[in-house]
Amino acid sequence: MNSEEIFILKQALANTSNIVIVGHKNPDGDAIGSCLGLANFLKQLEHQVTVVMPNDFPEFLKWIPETQTIINYEQHRDNVKNCLSEANLIFTLDFNALNRTGDLAQELMTTKADFILIDHHQEPDDYALVTYSDVGMSSTSEMVYHFIEFMGGLNLLNKEIATQLYVGIMTDTGSFRFPATTAATHRVIAHLIEAGAPNSIIHQNVYDTNSPDRLKLLGVALKNMVMLPEYKTAYITMSQEELNNNNFKKGDTEGFVNYALSMKGVIFAMIFIENKKEKIIKISLRSKGSFSVNDFSRKYFNGGGHTNAAGGKSSKTLSKTVEEFISILPGYKKELNEA
Ligand code: 5GP
Ligand code: MN
Repeated sequence: MNSEEIFILKQALANTSNIVIVGHKNPDGDAIGSCLGLANFLKQLEHQVTVVMPNDFPEFLKWIPETQTIINYEQHRDNVKNCLSEANLIFTLDFNALNRTGDLAQELMTTKADFILIDHHQEPDDYALVTYSDVGMSSTSEMVYHFIEFMGGLNLLNKEIATQLYVGIMTDTGSFRFPATTAATHRVIAHLIEAGAPNSIIHQNVYDTNSPDRLKLLGVALKNMVMLPEYKTAYITMSQEELNNNNFKKGDTEGFVNYALSMKGVIFAMIFIENKKEKIIKISLRSKGSFSVNDFSRKYFNGGGHTNAAGGKSSKTLSKTVEEFISILPGYKKELNEA
């Protein structure tokens, strides 16, 4: 953020009593961590703050401090409408377009409040009074740390904020290994540990909570994996029936796509997950190097994200979606082999 943006922000905060902080649909560790960390900080500045998520989030994130204060829009629509009507400032975190909040987007579009956007995804929409966008950042949680720094508030870092932001940075960087992890990221992490983030326990809480059902589902995913060596590509499919047979719970398929990407020689990986209730195929895309899954998903699968990690969806059947994907690949043969 430049000094003019910081000035506008400080003024907006000075004129604000009620603040709402919103994360994206199907919130991940970064959405939850960044929203809660920012909320804790703003509450210490005597603001009235409510954190809203469009829908529920996975069990492996529910131990994070202050998650019980989150209002789930899907379950408490009237409550959220009320909060939004009373808010003068709405922070939107970890997404680049209001439609990433699902049905909640309609409510957001009709409020009179000003928006502050904090996000690291590519091509943010232009709806905010202040847009703090930095695609070079590892995570929105790292940006919230810098936001607190810009506000001169690092002395207010406590164990809760440190833990919340640590989770967001850890999950979005694949435990500090994706390319967006910088020396500056590690410096932030070091400070968070000093401020009380129990780093080893956080890793255990997030990653060592597999259920037998989830591991069996992973077995199915790995069996379904298809290699396309001529395109340096691998993909996984999961039908609703396979999910049901293994007592699928929200979050169970998180990270599966990384197994496809971890194969030697593969630089492009996808997972196609059938969701009969929403009548869509949810798609996750991952890549290594210069091949942009953000561009690919925007072009073919109504989605987007980052160069190396993006999401998308299709309203065709699972088999038709995969068929379409395979028919697109020949046009990218050269790019994939040179990436
Ligand atoms: P995931 O595959 O884990 O759902 O998402 C990967 C990345 O892409 C995340 O940073 C996520 O926020 C973003 N993303 C997921 N789905 C969409 C989408 O439909 N549109 C956009 N713009 N970004 C998405
Ligand atoms: Mn993120």
